[in-house]
Order: sequence, then C-alpha cells, then structure tokens
Amino acid sequence: MARKIGTFDAIVVGARIAGSLTAAGLAANGWRVLLLDRVDFPRTTVSTHLFFSDTLTTLRAFALLDPVLTVPAPRIRWLRFPYVEAPFPEHEGFDFAICIRREILDTLLVERLRTRPGITVLTRATVAGVLREGDRVSGVVVRRGGHEWIATAPLVIGADGRNSTIARAVAARTYDRVPALFAWYYTYYEGIPLDPEPAALAVRGAFPEIGADYAAAFLFPADHGLTLVGYGVEHRAFRAFRRDVPRYFAEGLSRIPAVRDRIAAGRRVAAIRGTAQLPNFFRIAHGPGWGLVGDASCHKDPHTVQGMGDAARSARILIEELARIDPYSSALEAALARYDERRERDLRPMYEFTTFRLRQRIPEDIWERFEARTREDPELAALRVAAMVHAIDPAMVYAPERVRELAAGAPARLADR
Ligand SMILES: Cc1cc2nc3c(=O)[nH]c(=O)nc-3n(C[C@H](O)[C@H](O)[C@H](O)COP(=O)(O)OP(=O)(O)OC[C@H]3O[C@@H](n4cnc5c(N)ncnc54)[C@H](O)[C@@H]3O)c2cc1C
Repeated sequence: MARKIGTFDAIVVGARIAGSLTAAGLAANGWRVLLLDRVDFPRTTVSTHLFFSDTLTTLRAFALLDPVLTVPAPRIRWLRFPYVEAPFPEHEGFDFAICIRREILDTLLVERLRTRPGITVLTRATVAGVLREGDRVSGVVVRRGGHEWIATAPLVIGADGRNSTIARAVAARTYDRVPALFAWYYTYYEGIPLDPEPAALAVRGAFPEIGADYAAAFLFPADHGLTLVGYGVEHRAFRAFRRDVPRYFAEGLSRIPAVRDRIAAGRRVAAIRGTAQLPNFFRIAHGPGWGLVGDASCHKDPHTVQGMGDAARSARILIEELARIDPYSSALEAALARYDERRERDLRPMYEFTTFRLRQRIPEDIWERFEARTREDPELAALRVAAMVHAIDPAMVYAPERVRELAAGAPARLADR
C-alpha cells in the first residue's frame, strides 16, 4: 500500500523556474504547498538561460531576487539580434538582462524555498500520476526512495516542463501547434572579453552544405566569466547536423566572422549540448483540481528568448488569480479559468511572432517594410525590444494591425506607451 506524504493546499510538480515561483507565491498567500521534483539540485537542464526584466520583477515579487543578484554575472545592456538591436529599456527598475547557468539559478531558488514557511520541498520525487475524487484531481502518486507515496490537495499544478506528466495524466489538449522550427546547441567559453556595454548577441548565418539556409550563432555573457556560445540550424537541416554535432557546430560558428573573431580570444570549457525536440504548442492550462504553468502550458522555440519570462509571468498571473481564494471552495475553478484565459492573452503575441504565424498573416512587402524600419528607426527597435522583455504589452507591436501601422510609419515612441 502507498505511504502518505501528507495533505496540502496545493501540490506543485516541477521545481525549476515555473514551479519555484508558483510555490513561493502560493506560500506567500498562506497556502501549504508541496513542491516536488524528480531530480536533485544542483542539476542542469538543456536550456540556455538569458532572462529579462519580466523574470527579474517576478523574482522580486516573490522575494527570490536577492540570491540571484548576488551571482557574479554581468548586467547585459543591449540586445543585438539579427532583426532588432537596441538597449534594454528601463522596466520597473531593471534596465538589463542576465544569464545565469540553470544549475546555479534553479538551485538557488529551490534552496531558498526549502527554508520558507509553508513549503515542503521533496526532490528525487517522481510524480507518476494523479489521484482523483470523481472527476476532480485530488492529489499525486509519487515514487521516491524505492517506495510509492501519495499526497493529496485540492489543487495540483504541473510545472513539469514541455513533456508534462500532469498534462498527460489529465489529458490536457494541445492547440495551435507548430512543428519544431530549429535545433539549438550551445557550450561555454572562458576568456572572451566583455564589451563595455555587454550585449546578448545573435548573428544570422547559413550552412547550405547541410541544408541550412537559416542558421544562427549567439554569444551571451554569462556567470563566473563564462560566455555562452550557441549555434542552431533550421529544423530540416538537423538530420545532417546531428551526424557530427561537434564538427558542424564549430564549422557553423567559423562561418560567421563576427562570432569567429570573438571566440578566437577564448577557450571552450564545456561539452556541447542541445536539442531539436522543440515543438510549439499551447495546452489547455486548467481543469477540475489542476492547472499548468511554464513550458507545461505553452512551449515554443527559444529563438526569441521567451521561455523563462513566460514561465515567470504565468506563475504570477496564477498567483494573482488564486489570491483571496479558499482552495477548498467552489471559487477555485473560476479562478483557474481566469488564469488560463489571462495567461493565453499574455503569451499570444510573442507566440505568434516566435512561430512565424504572425509573419504569415502579413503581406510580404509590408513585413519587409516593418523590418526595414526597425533597422533604420531606433525608436521602433527600442519598442520591439521593450515588447520582447514585456516592458510593454507585446500586442503593441506583435499584432497584425500594429505591424501594418508601424510599417506605414505610425509613431513608435516608447514614451507614448
Ligand atoms: C536549447 C534551449 C535553449 C533555451 N534558451 C532559453 C533562454 O536563453 N532563455 C529563456 O528564457 N528560455 C530558454 N529556453 C526555454 C526554457 O528552458 C524553458 O522555457 C524553461 O526552462 C521553462 O521552465 P519550467 O519551469 O516551465 O520547466 P522546466 O525547466 O522544464 O522544469 C521542469 C521540472 O519538472 C521536473 N519534472 C518533470 N516531470 C516530472 C515528474 N513526473 N515528477 C517530478 N518532477 C518532474 C523536471 O525534473 C524539471 O526540473 C531554452 C530551451 C532550450 C531547450
């Protein structure tokens, strides 16, 4: 017979960015929370880790910012991407991005929560399924230490990533799916000098010999003097790329002079990691007794650097909707439904941009004018970066009617936001 861990007000499955923030927010509202992860920390995950002011403001809101800002990592002042180049705007006191390895960042969050009243953290605890009472989810089945355990709660939140066990257990439907677009690989260098105004740099390239008309390299100044160096190819070239990842990774970087010259000053100090398993989808994010946050609720290609910020903002919306709700009352379902609707509205514009669905809805000549104006007009570039970091509502830029207006010369001043 399964042993019992206990009864809680909420169980959060997955303890990285989405799960830690959700658990912290619920506990701040007085809920008793069980936070579970199948791994133990420190443990990395396949993910680069540039994050923006939307994540920083959420970390601050849940009293998790201080340990993060003590990590020695440069304040990154500029975004220099193939389609937009501008400094980061001031956003609730932050005018920088930061890039901290996930084994450091996620461990800091989990360790901080271990000592926080109201939160029980269990690692090496794999959730195998959910418990039900009638049609409601009422808890989880956990495998830990060679035993099967159960824990019960009126709300189970899946913060367990894109292959979410909770989503599978509740048969959460996916929608607006877009097949994988790119494969992304990365490693770390030391000894690459930092710019006076550190920038997150991405540069476009091509690798026709392996079928990649589109490839890109990126360099993000990271913690402890490291530089995250990455390279990716459009998905159709992945089959050729993976035949010899170290070779094509190095050759790809060497084809992009701006990157080749910079990394020549440094030395690679880590293995190359990455993935092509990057589907794009939304999932229905709530149901009777359950909710989903972070990648479990919406996954998208990382080329627009939205994942961690999306996880943070979704957690914040969920906490806002659950504030003042008694988890044992019938108000829970309505609050979860409001969360689902709000987080979809929040994620939608950048999802459409990231997956190229927005571009497909705009005539080519108008899109070209929008891109040309971004290159020529620093105000539009600044507006687009502000949208990426969610300092403004991205729908002010990344919506079909706005692209048309901006392409036609509509004012693009950030001050007017
Ligand atoms: C190559 C790559 C590069 C990326 N680069 C960036 C970037 O630079 N910036 C950015 O913002 N985003 C980036 N992302 C996206 C980012 O990694 C994700 O959006 C983010 O990690 C989502 O966080 P999460 O907490 O929702 O899920 P995850 O980070 O996936 O965490 C889920 C947790 O759930 C746990 N778990 C899963 N199943 C179970 C179970 N059954 N029982 C118990 N625990 C379970 C896992 O162990 C894991 O710790 C990148 C992603 C990839 C793949």
